Amino acid sequence: MAKLLIKNGRVVDPASELDRVTDVLLANAIVRKVEDNIIAPEAEVFDATGLVVTPGFIDMHVHLREPGFVHAETIETGARAAAGGGFTTICCMPNTSPVNDSAHVTSYIVERARRAAVVNVFPIGAITKGSNGEDLAAIGGMKRAGIVAISDDGRPVMNARVMRRAMETARSHDIPVIDHCEDLNLSAGGDMHEGLVSTKLGLRGIPACSEDVIVARDILLADVTGARFHVAHLSTRHSVAMVAEAKRRGLPVTCEVTPHHFAIHDGELLPYDSNYKMKPPIRCSHDVEACIAGIASGVVDALATDHAPHAGSEKMQEFEKCPFGILGLETAIGLTLQRMVVPGIISLQRMIELYTTGPAGILRLNRGTLKPGSPGDVTVLDLQRKWTYDVNKSFSKSRNSPFDGHEFPGGPVATIVGGKIVWQAE
Ligand SMILES: [Zn+2]
Repeated sequence: MAKLLIKNGRVVDPASELDRVTDVLLANAIVRKVEDNIIAPEAEVFDATGLVVTPGFIDMHVHLREPGFVHAETIETGARAAAGGGFTTICCMPNTSPVNDSAHVTSYIVERARRAAVVNVFPIGAITKGSNGEDLAAIGGMKRAGIVAISDDGRPVMNARVMRRAMETARSHDIPVIDHCEDLNLSAGGDMHEGLVSTKLGLRGIPACSEDVIVARDILLADVTGARFHVAHLSTRHSVAMVAEAKRRGLPVTCEVTPHHFAIHDGELLPYDSNYKMKPPIRCSHDVEACIAGIASGVVDALATDHAPHAGSEKMQEFEKCPFGILGLETAIGLTLQRMVVPGIISLQRMIELYTTGPAGILRLNRGTLKPGSPGDVTVLDLQRKWTYDVNKSFSKSRNSPFDGHEFPGGPVATIVGGKIVWQAE
């Protein structure tokens, strides 16, 4: 039986209200013991002196591009990038080719992940067939095959009647509906956030209200149907306020924010650099401040990367032509430490919740803690490790990150999945 003993780390497990220097013993892929001075002569020892030992981080919003776009990413390379970024579990969005809209595709992803992925991979199924926005996908079959939520991320459902039926179905299968909230008619033709900066640059804008109207619609539909509704990559101040109000009313509404949406505002982006082009776009400073306040206050339930690899040939086009999306897995922890924890906006414990119990609770993943009996997934952080992100050394197949060359004040140093070390910093 393989055993791994993590010695002398500062173990921070918000679910157990634990924050002290102690030992963690993993055996047979689960957490066996969290105690002082564990003696296990047969175990491999990981010396975590001076390091922070936390439950394995979960990224609930990742694009793995397989099947269909394996020139940009595969399940194997995306999982390696996750491990290199400190994540032990990722959830992959269904906008592959074919779209993950049937048990057949879900099973393919689950099987590929079992063989090729170094981290846990949970698929998210499509809401509608081919994400066409009209006919519901085979939600029950996909649930049995292993999906943990449904979403038409990237091609959001515009028809409110279809979304209502999707929520009713999701409720009967007890899974959440994750919506990429964007009114495609309001955002059509836009390349960046609509505001002063887009006007100055002469680029077409994506207004904040294109997100807000769909967040409003979906909260109303969640109220009508009783479905669990989760806002993907929330980015505007009005959306933060609406989610806060929905929570006050006791509705089952949750949301996530990405690191790039709290780390930069539209006045800071490099004009015409396609590595700053994503949906939702980098918003103005008022929206960024509201997202940060929502993360600090508890309105925001999870941080998620929206890791969206695109091959160089696609991203290296004129700004108007290139696709939306950036890498995120390898810079998320560094950005969160730098922008949220170091300045004291949130505590280290709160950061860990946002990447563990937060997403685990939304998706009911039964992980995100180091309580004995939990999966043996651990993320090890070094809060003193200064490092620089070199995108050319990324485990991802793609290179589209605006944070290439960025210096971070701390980050992950080891990723342990099912009791095995799957990545360690050099
Ligand atoms: Zn999206």
